[in-house]
Amino acid sequence: MSRPQNLYRLQQIDSQIDQADLRLKEIRTLLSDNTELNKASGIAAKADKILQSAKKELRTAEQNVKNQQIKIEQVENSLYSGVVRNPKELQDLQNEATSLKRFLVILEDRQLEAMLSVDEANEIFSNADAELQKIEAQNEKQQKNLVDERDKILGERELFLAQQKDARKYIIPTDLNVYERLRKQRTGIAVAKVENRACNACGSTLSAALNQSARSPSQVVFCESCGRILFAT
Ligand SMILES: [Zn+2]
Repeated sequence: MSRPQNLYRLQQIDSQIDQADLRLKEIRTLLSDNTELNKASGIAAKADKILQSAKKELRTAEQNVKNQQIKIEQVENSLYSGVVRNPKELQDLQNEATSLKRFLVILEDRQLEAMLSVDEANEIFSNADAELQKIEAQNEKQQKNLVDERDKILGERELFLAQQKDARKYIIPTDLNVYERLRKQRTGIAVAKVENRACNACGSTLSAALNQSARSPSQVVFCESCGRILFAT
């Protein structure tokens, strides 16, 4: 193979390694990104907290109704037991029973409101929990796909590295130095193919002389516009 051809071969391998590294970096970022999951988890936890608090309020409201009913029962027992006979005392007990029953209506209303709050909180929590489970399942599937892809790329990268080592053996040190410098300066692309008498990296047309010398197997020539090594077939 000619000097430019050897350099072009190395360029192709290095570009594949660059591409693999870029994707591996993306995969690392994606694997460590739990934003969506954390968000859904936070919403579900908050909804659960509201539900637990609503349930606690309902239990209190239920207890208040029960206590009130017991108080009414006790007053009515005294009223109808026959033990109290004094009309004034009986009237007082009657008044107390009426007042207790009036407040029972209010307590029952509060209990109903608390039940409605629990229903509402329950629905919000169920939706949030379903959403969380959906995202967890999606996440698990995505993570598995990413890990599979990463392992595949790592395997390919090993092969590329072996090819790179081999390709470098055929390149003379001065060419390799120029190549490495250009890779750094020209976003990874040091060697450009000549297509239709133009540099395919920057698009500029080659002079007839340059187009001719780019075909020489023994010399390395550079694009006059972007400075890359030219490789013509
Ligand atoms: Zn160029």
